[in-house]
Amino acid sequence: GYQRVLEENRKLYNQVQDLKGNIRVYCRVRPFKPGQSNTLSSVDHMDERTITILTHSKNGKEARKAFTFNKVFGPSVTQAEVFSDMQPLVRSVLDGYNVCIFAYGQTGSGKTHTMTGPKELTEEGLGVNYRALSDLFHISNQRKETISYDISVQMLEIYNEQVRDLLSADEIRNSSQNGINVPDANLVPVSLTSDVINLMSIGHKNRSVCSTALNDRSSRSHSCLTVHVQGRDLTSGNILRGSMHLVDLAGSERVDKSEVVGNRLKEAQHINKSLSALGDVISSLASRSSHVPYRNSKLTQLLQDSLGGQAKTLMFVHIAPEYEALGETISTLKFAERVATVELGAAKVNKDSGEVKELKEQIASLKAALARKE
Ligand code: ADP
Ligand code: MG
Repeated sequence: GYQRVLEENRKLYNQVQDLKGNIRVYCRVRPFKPGQSNTLSSVDHMDERTITILTHSKNGKEARKAFTFNKVFGPSVTQAEVFSDMQPLVRSVLDGYNVCIFAYGQTGSGKTHTMTGPKELTEEGLGVNYRALSDLFHISNQRKETISYDISVQMLEIYNEQVRDLLSADEIRNSSQNGINVPDANLVPVSLTSDVINLMSIGHKNRSVCSTALNDRSSRSHSCLTVHVQGRDLTSGNILRGSMHLVDLAGSERVDKSEVVGNRLKEAQHINKSLSALGDVISSLASRSSHVPYRNSKLTQLLQDSLGGQAKTLMFVHIAPEYEALGETISTLKFAERVATVELGAAKVNKDSGEVKELKEQIASLKAALARKE
């Protein structure tokens, strides 16, 4: 009846709102490390959408540069607050969207904190990965009378342009043929947050197998948790598929080529290449170029289906507040700004009923129905 019409109207309206922007960029500023509170900061000012950076020109004169994003999270913003902001995006996976969430920034800026949480995990500390999956479980359970959902995850690492399955410790064959870019990695069904915690700890163990004290591999590789969702409408039998990639990117810091050699140089070159390939893909999508250079890196090949007009992207750019980090901070903000000014076409649900036009028509007719009731 009436309640239902209201509810439908609200849902459709939200969907239209959701379709408006495909790429969103959030900036998150890490707090100072304990005991560091009097350190000089490069952050001059922050508000909901703008961050102003303090720099000095060659003659020592102070200068300020402002960068605008969809959202700026200051150092005191909690994990729960960050997640609540992106919750609608996460939930859209259950409606058949493809979603890609990236954590970008120099090593030590808080990427892993955002995606996974601090080393000593507490309930409040839980990062996006856990919160997203818990939320999907929660909502799919709420809908179980009407839709039956299967949720499964993969965990991959890309290191030196090689893809490794973190859930089976195998290297993955180069499987990108026929445009099928999701490699043949272990796909594990999950239905409880504890399943996810267990899998992630297996993944983290596998990841650290190859790292030594001197060579912290985790900051030089991309790690990607992929969530596959399949929903079957219990009345119509229709199937809906959505996916979500949660990517903790390699550290974006530039390495002084004169100072590193051998493996370190090779790693740095691979990282540079893949992060700039990511930037290139996004900017060529933005300019609607007929050629999108997905094939320039493993990362963009892997994410091809989730980067583009069909999908939604959220990029977290992480900033370290210390003045010493200024150079990296500026280069991170510039990368982010390139991505943030992008405006892609409307995201599409993975079935043909999701067109904005159609939704707008439905909203108009629901509004008319509401008006008649009133
Ligand atoms: P990255 O993954 O970018 O190298 P980390 O996530 O490991 O950086 O963060 C570096 C350190 O700063 C860690 O000890 C982490 O727990 C801490 N940290 C990062 N972001 C925050 C935050 N928003 N609040 C509290 N501590 C944070
Ligand atoms: Mg990290």
